[in-house]
Amino acid sequence: MKNLESVFDQLSPEYQRITKQARKDFEKNRKLPEEDVRAYSMLLAEAEVIWEKAKETNDFKLYEPYLTKIVDFQRKFAGIFGAIDGSLYNTLLDDYEEGMTITRLDQFFATLRARIVPLVHRIGKAKQPRQDFMSRHFNRLGQLSLAKDVLHLIGYDLERGVLAESAHPFTSGISKNDTRVTTHVFEDNFISSVYSTIHEGGHGIYDQNINPAYKDTPLGDGASMAVHESQSRFYENIVGRSEEFSRLLLTKARAQFSGLLDDVTEDEFYRAINIARPSFIRTESDELTYSLHIMVRYQLEKRLIEGTLAVADLPSTWNQLMKEYLGVVPPTDTLGVLQDVHWSGGAFGYFPSYALGNAYSAQLLHAMKKDLDVFGLIAKGQLEPIKQWFMSHVYVYGKLIPPGEVLERATGEPLNPDYYCKYLEEKFAKVYHL
Ligand code: ZN
Repeated sequence: MKNLESVFDQLSPEYQRITKQARKDFEKNRKLPEEDVRAYSMLLAEAEVIWEKAKETNDFKLYEPYLTKIVDFQRKFAGIFGAIDGSLYNTLLDDYEEGMTITRLDQFFATLRARIVPLVHRIGKAKQPRQDFMSRHFNRLGQLSLAKDVLHLIGYDLERGVLAESAHPFTSGISKNDTRVTTHVFEDNFISSVYSTIHEGGHGIYDQNINPAYKDTPLGDGASMAVHESQSRFYENIVGRSEEFSRLLLTKARAQFSGLLDDVTEDEFYRAINIARPSFIRTESDELTYSLHIMVRYQLEKRLIEGTLAVADLPSTWNQLMKEYLGVVPPTDTLGVLQDVHWSGGAFGYFPSYALGNAYSAQLLHAMKKDLDVFGLIAKGQLEPIKQWFMSHVYVYGKLIPPGEVLERATGEPLNPDYYCKYLEEKFAKVYHL
């Protein structure tokens, strides 16, 4: 053993990390009883089909026994891996965001709750911006052409990727040199395809520019799901929904769809792409309310895994939290607790990554502004320096260090939700003339 340790000490930081991670995965996997793994895999295969049917027919009761078994397995597995700081949920979180804990997330979400919920409430009383022009007919090919143009503008390399259509937009990083993104076109809502393209483009830019030294190694990947999401959200919201970018986009859209947007002012366009209002569906929610949808899911899955909430009580507790955080209650479970695929696939501990990604992106912006005139560059359509900044502050690490450390090295401090809240408060005060 002594010998092995001295060999380990002599390895490069890269090999130390790879060895450590491989060992961690191996140790975890071999602890699981084979018959449990088999039963669990079969359960998940069945549960996904049942979830789809339950969602289609608004029948939570049909899904309930399956979800109950999934939660039981998750609790059992987490127990076998070992609770972290006395919490089984911490063990599951660690799979998605290494080092993240309930203690830190509780503080994080408490800040979001204290600052974002009142803001949503104030906006609810404000006058909504003009939006009639958003649902005009924008033809499919024109939208695809605009989406490609926008991908190029933000710095996604179309020579090493491709844009295609799919029912649900996604990014598929086959390799650094083959990163494909998809979008979904709605002819009566061109903004939807533009922004889903920018979002996936942000994931794609990260994948295309991870430290080339780590190509084809376990380190040649995003630091975590949350760090990945910080990139897609940075490009989608911080860049894409900024006043400066909205002007570039309006010019491009006017050229693409001649005559369709001539009666729209720059200010009307900027405000329309930033409309915020509480809604039922997470994936369709706006920049301001998105993390509140995540907060609902965090509170619920934490309690399910900690054993303080029964699956049978999930729908009513879901609705109660929606009311508390967003002020709306979904009329059906299809529009509520049944909307997401994650839990039916056994992904507990995954949801917080979305909200963390949002917060990371705002903290990264704060740090980037010390080095770059970020919005001055965007106004000029010069986005290359932004990508370069990410390459040297985030992409360079690949998976070499834990996500929290990437954030700390890039921004000089650990996660601080104040940046995210401040960003939202300033932005939406401007959009809604508060
Ligand atoms: Zn994403």
